[in-house]
Amino acid sequence: MSGRSRVWVALGSNLGESKQILQKAWRRLGNEEALDSICLSSPYITEPVGMDSSNLFLNAVGILETTLPPESLLVVLQQVEKEFGRSRKMVGKGYEDRLLDLDILYFDGCVLTSSKLVLPHPHIGERLFVLEPLVEIDPEHIDPANGLTAVAMHQKLLQQMDAGIVAVQDIKRDTWA
Ligand code: AMP
Repeated sequence: MSGRSRVWVALGSNLGESKQILQKAWRRLGNEEALDSICLSSPYITEPVGMDSSNLFLNAVGILETTLPPESLLVVLQQVEKEFGRSRKMVGKGYEDRLLDLDILYFDGCVLTSSKLVLPHPHIGERLFVLEPLVEIDPEHIDPANGLTAVAMHQKLLQQMDAGIVAVQDIKRDTWA
């Protein structure tokens, strides 16, 4: 591929065989003509954040390279979510249980807000289930919006949890085996 961009993607599932779903979805993305998968973090078992579901989540972060522009990549990710039968069962405050959720965390150093896409993804700094796998695979990655490394954002969130500013989020690293 020429004119490649590097993309950091968050994967999540809290319904069905989540481990298999995330692994298959990652392989499926890597098989796309315009995408190359570079690496995938370990899976992390996490408690739902911002929703009332009792189903635990499995989360991971992966790095892709692509020749697509950001909004075309989003279309591919949403197509793959659909193929994996993403459920629209609403729970809590508008969030929903899902077989597969794919979000673009970062797209090169892009900072943009359009009707379909916000980059960097607006909730990275609040989510341990994003920052922990990101630190595992790319600790020195610099967030183009705030200039902080992944490690620094992770430490900041942990400090906010310690100080009681944000709720403690339970997270446990798992293996793909
Ligand atoms: P969700 O259902 O939580 O996965 O949110 C999906 C919606 O968020 C879609 O309508 C997208 O257009 C929008 N969106 C905005 N920014 C992003 C992003 N960085 N990655 C994925 N979806 C995004």
